Amino acid sequence: MKARTLIAALFVLATAPTWAADACSTDIAGTDQMTYDKSEIVIPKSCKTFTVTLKHPGEMPVSVMGHNWVLAKSEDVEGIAGDGQEAGESNNYLKPNDSRVLAHTRLIGAGEEDSVTFDTALLKAGTAYTFFCSYPVHDSVMKGDIKFGS
Ligand code: ZN
Repeated sequence: MKARTLIAALFVLATAPTWAADACSTDIAGTDQMTYDKSEIVIPKSCKTFTVTLKHPGEMPVSVMGHNWVLAKSEDVEGIAGDGQEAGESNNYLKPNDSRVLAHTRLIGAGEEDSVTFDTALLKAGTAYTFFCSYPVHDSVMKGDIKFGS
């Protein structure tokens, strides 16, 4: 029993620094209720790259309640979403090679997840950025702000 306690303590010590280093990444969930579980994502200035992992903990399939995570300038969201709706599900509801899209995951359904890593140098100070889901109509509620941390 003592050995087990020691191993548990070592495990905590060993994992703590790893957790701290994970500040350059975050998880976000898209639900069956057509919501994200976060309304903003903070990107520390020290991060050269940032990774977002989108998860779908619900039960609905991609064709009914599909979610992706798209990063763009706030002013481009409406245009991207409109063109994405025309592009259809086979294109993750994004116009292929849309230069306004700064980063995106693929469209996922229940039980799936997908990650995207992007270079933070593409984000300019003083510009407003938004993350959103480009599945039709979802962007009306599934969106949030990108904040730059210090
Ligand atoms: Zn969605």
